[in-house]
Amino acid sequence: MSDRLLKGIGVSGGIGVGPAVVVRWAMPEVPHRVVPRAQVEKEVRRLRAAVRDVKRYLQDLKAKAEDRAGVDEARIFDAQILMLEDKEFLGGVADLIRENHLTAEKAYEFKALEVRDAWAATGSPRLKDRLTDLSGVAIRVIEHLMHRGSDELWEGITQPSVVVAKELAPGLTVQLDREHVVGLVSEEGTRTSHAAILAHSIGIPAVFGVAGAIERIAPGTMLVMDGTRGTVLLDPTPHEIAEARARELRRRELAAQLEQAVNLPAVTTDGVRIVLRGNVDLPDEIAAAREHGAEGVGLLRTEFLITGHSALPSETEQADYFRRVAEAFPDHPVIVRTYDLGGDKLPAPFRTVSEVNPQLGWRAIRVCLDRPDMFRSQIRAALRAAVHGDVWLMIPLVTRLDELDRTRTLVAEEAAQLEREGVASATSLPLGVMIETPAAAIMADRLAAEADFLSVGTNDLTQYTLVVDRGNARLAERFNPHDPSVLRLLKMVADAARAAGKPASVCGEMASEPLSAFLLIGLGYETLSVAPPALPLIKWTVRQVSAARARAAAEQALAARTADDVLDVLRLALAEAVDLKLLDPDGRLPAARRPASLNV
Ligand code: PEP
Ligand code: MG
Repeated sequence: MSDRLLKGIGVSGGIGVGPAVVVRWAMPEVPHRVVPRAQVEKEVRRLRAAVRDVKRYLQDLKAKAEDRAGVDEARIFDAQILMLEDKEFLGGVADLIRENHLTAEKAYEFKALEVRDAWAATGSPRLKDRLTDLSGVAIRVIEHLMHRGSDELWEGITQPSVVVAKELAPGLTVQLDREHVVGLVSEEGTRTSHAAILAHSIGIPAVFGVAGAIERIAPGTMLVMDGTRGTVLLDPTPHEIAEARARELRRRELAAQLEQAVNLPAVTTDGVRIVLRGNVDLPDEIAAAREHGAEGVGLLRTEFLITGHSALPSETEQADYFRRVAEAFPDHPVIVRTYDLGGDKLPAPFRTVSEVNPQLGWRAIRVCLDRPDMFRSQIRAALRAAVHGDVWLMIPLVTRLDELDRTRTLVAEEAAQLEREGVASATSLPLGVMIETPAAAIMADRLAAEADFLSVGTNDLTQYTLVVDRGNARLAERFNPHDPSVLRLLKMVADAARAAGKPASVCGEMASEPLSAFLLIGLGYETLSVAPPALPLIKWTVRQVSAARARAAAEQALAARTADDVLDVLRLALAEAVDLKLLDPDGRLPAARRPASLNV
């Protein structure tokens, strides 16, 4: 099968089965023709008229997109209109017409290719995404100037088909008719390209980034494309088609059940209430966390305030952000994690000599304590925001008790200082530590006695326990939070917190995956903080399992020899309560792995 299976990025979920319609959507061949000097100005006027007409056309598409995809998605066409009317671009085209006596279409083609090359050369993923928009506008203008239309592409499609293209512009995507186009496959494009966003809103499965699709897929080839898995299967057997359809049915069934669970409490069948919070890395995740019913933010990552900026954010900027998040969750805590900077991701002002071993180097709480000005401003911001909500503070990568002591002293000093300055602020706030190193896990009883709460970062805890760089693809198989050694540490931490009467949660990525969430409940964690899109799935899982059974499974898992044995134990136990095929229609449990790109 492998030679019939093409892989790409699933950008819009669901499966599409049908024959391939291969569209060659590309810049038309523009013949070279010299314009007599006397007609040059007429050619410039022809350019302006074409821009006016295409603008009207794009406005029509925008209206269509509002109907079909939504008001926000329709703004994609505003971006295209801005490109179309860009004065510098049009001035450049007019200059080419006047100076080189080119036709309007030839001059437009030259200029569009020049800009395309310049954008491609920057290597910026954002500009790369916008290249298709640029081509979409250019093709439309050039075809208009050549008195040709491109919409006819879709008119030849008479039966449910999968459209295969080199690239797809949003203007084409928004016109797709779901009855005839059951899937999209494209060589170019990413999850954030505008065509992907529209395909997702309109509900057409799509796989982008399929290298060599045009060459490999002959027109009329039967395809099964899976926009969830990101695969395209050529010439499927009847059995493979049936299997794909069954998978899709299971996915839909699960989606329907998840939707029902969103507004129900996360309680196990034997009555244990599990608190589910959201991990927020970037501001746009606040809304997703709320929509999915997060009971506060269990991990507010703050690195985005620094990375990619040339200067540190001001205290007020930070306070405003923390306040905004706190106000979004009026009845729940928001746990601000202080800067987890480190390794090669240090902001410019802190980059000194490069380190041979950055993961074991100057990072996280170590940087903060060595740069008290920066740390104090973050502490002050949290204290100020705490007037507007239940703001807690948490320090990452703790290895020693004195890191907690020193932070506590700074918090007390800044609270007193703010009071002296007459700034509205809290007099204190809950201060917790992240358990992310074997050192912290081993000292969990002492840390639990002295901190207000513990939160386990299983991504780093796994990395440092197993001595496996979490971003090293070569070692990905070894990066396994289910290793019995990690389980023992997790158990020690949960027990230590319970003995000290302090809350403990898990905010590492494993909490976002059902099998592991089941294990964590069994190990004694009653608060999990997960990636916002995973909230419904975890709640659905919680509502079907019993905490007693989870505890028994965790006991068994702790006695297992290897990570694989742990997973077998968990699968068997969870299967008693949950239809694993429904829970994991793609059969890929456990799935959640933190993408290396997010590592800081
Ligand atoms: C972790 O290490 O598990 C964690 C939650 O922190 P981060 O992934 O941001 O390092
Ligand atoms: Mg971490």
